[in-house]
Amino acid sequence: MNYSINCIACGHLEKVSIISCSRCSKGLEVKLNKQNEIYNSEESLLLRYRSFLPLSDKKILGRYPNSSTPVIQIYKKNVYAKLEYCTFSASSKDREAFIEIVMAQVLGYKGIVVASTGNMGGALASLCAMFKFPCIVLIPEDTSRNKIRHIEQFGAVVKKVPGTYDDIVPKAIEFANKENMFLASLQAFRFEGYKTIAYELFEKFGKNLPKNIIVPLGDGTTYVGIWKGFKDLKNQGLIDSYPSLIGVQAKQCDPIVSAYINKSPIKFLKNPNTIAQAIRIGNPLDGDYSLRVVEETRGQMFSFKENQILEAQSLLLKEGVDAEFTSALTFCPILFKDIGEGLLLITGPGFKN
Ligand SMILES: [Zn+2]
Repeated sequence: MNYSINCIACGHLEKVSIISCSRCSKGLEVKLNKQNEIYNSEESLLLRYRSFLPLSDKKILGRYPNSSTPVIQIYKKNVYAKLEYCTFSASSKDREAFIEIVMAQVLGYKGIVVASTGNMGGALASLCAMFKFPCIVLIPEDTSRNKIRHIEQFGAVVKKVPGTYDDIVPKAIEFANKENMFLASLQAFRFEGYKTIAYELFEKFGKNLPKNIIVPLGDGTTYVGIWKGFKDLKNQGLIDSYPSLIGVQAKQCDPIVSAYINKSPIKFLKNPNTIAQAIRIGNPLDGDYSLRVVEETRGQMFSFKENQILEAQSLLLKEGVDAEFTSALTFCPILFKDIGEGLLLITGPGFKN
């Protein structure tokens, strides 16, 4: 093994991948024993980045079905959009899903289970079809019909559950334990795929990275994962400083942003409701970690009203970008705050809404 599993809060070392620290019950993360540079000559994306990942089997990494997602310039100078919907399952969740399916197989599980707001379920379902690996998705029953149909068509078992994402997480944990299946999205490996966003941006921009990188905050996992990628690059001396990571939430579901603004502990929200369904999470797993990252990167956090999200979405369409409401939020700091420039992470497409 080229990695260890450590507690994010107390540093305790776990022997096997479990959901939370056996000493303090906080979340876990992967620490790699050794890193090298990006292998620039490799054609396949994950082969290039393999020394930054907790798995190194070249044959498996070569099966990752995506190249670097496109970055386009929009709206005005120094504003970019990274189109994460140009992937196998049309969302940024491909990155996480691929790593977790491979780890599930390496660790000997007979299938994978996830609680999802839609995009992660779609990514797991399509990649599990590619790997011929069983997949079960628990999803809030009021999730958009397009997202549910997208998951079902790949042959995954979809369990529609009343309530929000926060309500179905304990059910997914219970199911995974009972059936001896790998539980995606909650274990230490959840950050590893998102690190590749940072590597891709480095390959595109070199040291002249966009000043601000704007990311939707649900659990905060994508946000933290991108930072971990930049941290790898900094540790290797490939970049000198971090871009500012800007986190965005909907005003109607903003537990992380509220804590950031009020400098207070995160208060969990019960039954939040917003059109930004992919980040309708009242009890964010990596909320505390996100608050560390915003300080570390001299970033900022904002939340926006529903009508602002709608306006951002329609203005993105005028630029040719079809963003789901959650992703349209990343345009809001450019439109409604004074941040001037930045790269928007368009995590999923509008046609899934
Ligand atoms: Zn701990």
